[in-house]
Amino acid sequence: MRTKVIAGNWKMNKNLNESVTLVSEIKNGLTSLNCSSEIIICPPYTSLETVNSLIKNTAINLGAQNMHFEDSGAFTGEISADMLKSVGCNYVILGHSERRKIFLETDEVINEKINKALDEKLKVIFCIGETLTERESKITFKVLEEQIVNGLNNISDEKVVNLTVAYEPVWAIGTGKTASPEQAQEVHEFIRKLIAKLYSNNISQDMKILYGGSVKPGNAASLLSQADIDGALIGGACLKADSFLEIIKIAG
Ligand code: PEP
Repeated sequence: MRTKVIAGNWKMNKNLNESVTLVSEIKNGLTSLNCSSEIIICPPYTSLETVNSLIKNTAINLGAQNMHFEDSGAFTGEISADMLKSVGCNYVILGHSERRKIFLETDEVINEKINKALDEKLKVIFCIGETLTERESKITFKVLEEQIVNGLNNISDEKVVNLTVAYEPVWAIGTGKTASPEQAQEVHEFIRKLIAKLYSNNISQDMKILYGGSVKPGNAASLLSQADIDGALIGGACLKADSFLEIIKIAG
């Protein structure tokens, strides 16, 4: 049995005061929930340290939304794995479609980041997903296979066990369109089989594969009940404590 994971990607939302309010509401709400899922919140860099101090002694994990693969140096505007760990992060999201599309991150760069993060003992949420054009051209599986094979190039068995995959169809992110539970399950099953081929059956059975793309309280139950969907990576609905907590409640 894989534990469910509910992760919130705050993206470029919430200044410091707003972050304090949101995390306090989540923390308070969680005390009355009998939550068996793993909870991860990923605020912007500017709020990480403060949020970390507020979630000490809770079961909430702290993640960052990106990271550079170098240790230090002349990389203006970038943040290293060590910096993230120093403010309490134990997770990092890598390969998000917004990083791929807006900031032109390639599979190769994402692979370097994954390698570095895992070397530094940060757990990775590795995002993959096809665009609408790719889905309509019926190359979804080919695109996802390429993203996975390239993203996990030279990542050993020992390291990959600290990686979670997030399948996020680009056409469903922030659009209000969700993959149907059947569409999502079909892809998750494909990903699990591919991981078994690349690694082993044991690794693939233990690997968490999250769904992301307009997950809301209203559609969470049908998605999370699919055999190969182990949780959700949530954007819009994690910015309000009520909806984030409701999804956590649904996850059980
Ligand atoms: C995301 O960006 O990771 C995401 C899933 O966003 P949303 O839930 O808003 O579609």
